[in-house]
Amino acid sequence: MTRSPDLRYNLVGATRSEIAALLGDIDPRPYRVEQVYHWMVRRLAASLDDMTSLPKALRLSLAARAVVHDPVIVEELKASDGTVKLALGYDDGVVIEAVVMAMEGHATICLSSQAGCAVGCRFCVTGAFGPGRHLSGGEIFGQYRAIVRYANLVGRPLNVVFMGMGEPLLNFDALARSLELLAETVSLRRVTVSTSGIVPGLERLARLDRRPNLAVSLNATTQKQRSYLMPGAARWPLSELLAALRAYPLERGRRITIEYVLLEGFNDSPEDARRLPLLLRGLPVKVNLIPFNPDSVHLPGLVAPGDERINAFAAQLAAAHLNVTVRWSKGRDVGAACGQLRSRHVTDRA
Ligand code: SAH
Ligand code: SF4
Repeated sequence: MTRSPDLRYNLVGATRSEIAALLGDIDPRPYRVEQVYHWMVRRLAASLDDMTSLPKALRLSLAARAVVHDPVIVEELKASDGTVKLALGYDDGVVIEAVVMAMEGHATICLSSQAGCAVGCRFCVTGAFGPGRHLSGGEIFGQYRAIVRYANLVGRPLNVVFMGMGEPLLNFDALARSLELLAETVSLRRVTVSTSGIVPGLERLARLDRRPNLAVSLNATTQKQRSYLMPGAARWPLSELLAALRAYPLERGRRITIEYVLLEGFNDSPEDARRLPLLLRGLPVKVNLIPFNPDSVHLPGLVAPGDERINAFAAQLAAAHLNVTVRWSKGRDVGAACGQLRSRHVTDRA
């Protein structure tokens, strides 16, 4: 369990057994532990005072040693399509970002797993900033709690995607804890972890009892392209990555999402569109084409292909019997690609 700045324990991210240890000499009855846990992971209580079903004396005793401490929303940017991009700050001044897309029916929340990224993809603002610290499982879950309360989504059906800043499979233990906590309110069938293809991380994910959906950022059809575009991920060759995907245990009817950021002149040729279905042959996948989201300051010289070329690429994949969709960018007017909002904070503070 982590501690808050005043050294009291932070209940955000605590497991049942950690809460039991904390309550041990106050009120060790299992139903009390369950009550506190319920307030934290299902009702998303913002403070001990919110836990109204607990006797006041118990809340007071607990307050001497524990707090409920979530990250703070330090900025919000609303796009015209309803997408809201949030910057969230932790106690050490680290700022990360998250996104809420409130479409009809289910809202989708996009979480960050690290405050930077060591993979260093050339088309990614987070990568351009380089490695940042890991977020703990509690910090990731705190992000979720803060956003769900902010967007008035407590108790509403949600999708959660790990597509914000960072590479979740390079922060595996924290990811696993956050998934365990999330699973108390969101079915893991509605949670997607996106990875740049960290093979040992995929193997660990495959061994979890309860697994989320998997999305893999492929972004290239040759090793040479991939090594250039995603230097930190290319350590695991395409052949090893594809073998790990073939071995990945999928539940019936599930598919792996293959993400492919389209960059003009790098990976958008008819040759690429010919190679991609061959690479993915026999794998239960759906391909999500993502037109590159430009950032002239941090990612100069890179552009998305024109819409016609994107549609032609998609059509070529469909003709080869791949299940393909194009992610026409949400929140384009607020710079919805990961890292872009935080980059403003870093620049502002510099
Ligand atoms: N590190 C993980 C998850 C975070 S990135 C991963 O790479 O999968 C989430 C998605 O955003 C990835 O598919 C990535 O390829 C994509 N992405 C990053 N920068 C982008 C940009 N500038 N435009 C469009 N997509 C981008
Ligand atoms: Fe990291 Fe993903 Fe960005 Fe690559 S695309 S730098 S893996 S966050």
